Amino acid sequence: MKNIIFLEPVFKSMIWGGNKLATEYGYDIPSDHTGECWAISAHKNGDCTIKKGEFRGQTLSWLWANHRELFGNAQGEVFPLLIKIIDAKTDLSIQVHPDDAYAREKENGSLGKTECWYILDCDEDGEIVVGHNARDKEELRQMIEEKRWKELIKVRPIKKGDFFQIEPGTVHAIKKGTVILETQQNSDITYRLYDYDRLENGKPRELHLEKSIDVIRCPHEDKNTGGSVTELNACRIEHLITCEFYTVDKLTLQGEQEFTMDQKFLNVSVIAGSGFIDETPIKKGDHFILPYGYGKYVLKGELELITSHI
Ligand code: ZN
Repeated sequence: MKNIIFLEPVFKSMIWGGNKLATEYGYDIPSDHTGECWAISAHKNGDCTIKKGEFRGQTLSWLWANHRELFGNAQGEVFPLLIKIIDAKTDLSIQVHPDDAYAREKENGSLGKTECWYILDCDEDGEIVVGHNARDKEELRQMIEEKRWKELIKVRPIKKGDFFQIEPGTVHAIKKGTVILETQQNSDITYRLYDYDRLENGKPRELHLEKSIDVIRCPHEDKNTGGSVTELNACRIEHLITCEFYTVDKLTLQGEQEFTMDQKFLNVSVIAGSGFIDETPIKKGDHFILPYGYGKYVLKGELELITSHI
């Protein structure tokens, strides 16, 4: 049987970050304003290291470049997905991402960014920004120029377990007190629309108004997600989304359940509990990849997992 690829996350300090990645997930974080854990990433801005086995110490980008057979010989110059845990102690800037076509042309051939959020935790009166209220580009431009942010952005209440798909061109922002697991395309291109006039090192962070206006879809349309649930003996599988770039599922396991791997590779994040995959212990905060041809495997314990594949 092939080895499971366990990964060492990369952490990012952010002005809006907190310390929940240490207190809730047990990570050794670099500061008390750590905003992001890049948990499964081969991006050059945060390339995860392999924790054990024959490839120990190598990066995920190296593994993708040199052992594509472990990923079912999937196509593409870069590992296609990026999995993060985000701890927002304060509000993130209001932002939007380009699609592949726009990013390829304007951002040196980068991928665009489609992302989705599973709400791991939030304040009791938690909120999130998804969408906007402008009818067309003209109204959008006018509202932005006149700084009518309250009127422009769509703020929604959230609770633990909610899920959102953020297509390119969708105005969005994570708000204070929220911890999410994000599954996204392997891209780091963000256009900042509004940053609450905050300062970082004494200066406001750069905004990208023209590019934002270029890519924001008008009018906003909500994306339907979720729906189907599969009940196995010891596992409940909630299908969260399938789009062009990824499929994401939430698994809740109580007991013991056998699965058969039929994807090119499977990203797994343990978001609660502890247990085993085959003989290997796993716990909340672990992230790993099941390689191509891993075959049958048994999950055991009380576990909540988010899985993704292309
Ligand atoms: Zn985003």
